[in-house]
Amino acid sequence: MSIEWDAGRLDSDLEGAAPETLAVRGGQYRTPEGEHGEPLFFTSSYVFRSAAEAAARFAGEQPGNVYSRYTNPTVRTFETRLAALEQGEQAVATSSGMAAIMATVMSLCSAGDHVLVSRSVFGATVSLFEKYFKRFGVQVDYVPLCDLSAWKAAFKPNTKLLFVESPSNPLAELVDIAALAALAHEHGALLAVDNCFCTPILQQPLVLGADIVVHSATKYIDGQGRCLGGAVVGRRELMTEVVGFLRTAGPTMSPFNAWVFLKGLETLSLRMRAHCATALALALWLEQQPGIDKVYYAGLPSHPQHELAKRQQKGFGAVVSFEVKGGKEAAWRFIDATRMISITANLGDSKTTITHPASTTHGRLSPEERANAGIQDSLIRVAVGLEDLEDLKKDLARGLAAL
Ligand SMILES: *Cc1c(COP(=O)(O)O)cnc(C)c1O
Repeated sequence: MSIEWDAGRLDSDLEGAAPETLAVRGGQYRTPEGEHGEPLFFTSSYVFRSAAEAAARFAGEQPGNVYSRYTNPTVRTFETRLAALEQGEQAVATSSGMAAIMATVMSLCSAGDHVLVSRSVFGATVSLFEKYFKRFGVQVDYVPLCDLSAWKAAFKPNTKLLFVESPSNPLAELVDIAALAALAHEHGALLAVDNCFCTPILQQPLVLGADIVVHSATKYIDGQGRCLGGAVVGRRELMTEVVGFLRTAGPTMSPFNAWVFLKGLETLSLRMRAHCATALALALWLEQQPGIDKVYYAGLPSHPQHELAKRQQKGFGAVVSFEVKGGKEAAWRFIDATRMISITANLGDSKTTITHPASTTHGRLSPEERANAGIQDSLIRVAVGLEDLEDLKKDLARGLAAL
């Protein structure tokens, strides 16, 4: 729902603007106060001039705000700005990344529908499908992300939705999004891409043919580890369904968080460039170290999908994973020997983090499931932040010395 402000010259003309410009100015509708920064509308409800106006708003006959579970101007500014960056018709903000995934499936799938999910998606995403959606009659199958022939073979007549993350966490595997979108559409299914790791700055799945993008704004969009939030982006007709679910079920984004994410978007391009540059330098350096068996980073020429990554993404992201010689004990010794990098499973922060996937993010999987997913006990994941490259090398060198 949009409101007609009489802002005149106050708003920017963004016709044909580049992502860096949209990230700073997109979606802002200035109030008659002429504020330069985005206002934070901290209000749960809105007042009407008369009972008749209230009735017309509630009936949807007159545009305008009713209640912040439905619309909030600060949240709407965030949605408009993110939609512009993803080149989608509409974005819908949610209370977290998981709420975005829940809202997508709840609004677009019904009992009896079949969903194909990449094997290498976020752990909570698997739990959401396994523990909850299956209970309500949604059929779910898992497919190895990179294997297009496996995707082809997995379709059923009732396949409604494909759900992937590319690149994957923590092994940086990719799928050819354009090819998978074409396959989904041949079978009358929708393709949803969790674009959390790349952000619209590095990859625009909708432009590549995907139908839906979901985000955990908690990660790079905030970029400084402060707030939880998420979003779903896509065609208006699909987003109308998502909006309907959110209004009724309630996992909407807080206006305060939307305001923080707006500020995050303004520096997203600069931050992603810095994250990517440091991550590539660290990956190249780690590959040379004697204690390291293997480095997983799509920016390395040794990565099997390096060419696809170059074609599909504008950068390779900030997550670098590597296997150390000596198994789990060695991996734990490496992690414990660092003194600056934070031992935490979060990512997308200006602070670099280090984690042992086999005992944290992927700890709930059985040893066989972990082996299938390629998560070795010797694997360490570093989500590269914004600190100085040499300081990061110095800290990781402490880990290497402990091997
Ligand atoms: C963190 C994350 C999520 C979940 O987001 P929350 O904001 O923590 O709910 C979903 N997908 C990916 C790829 C993530 O990294």
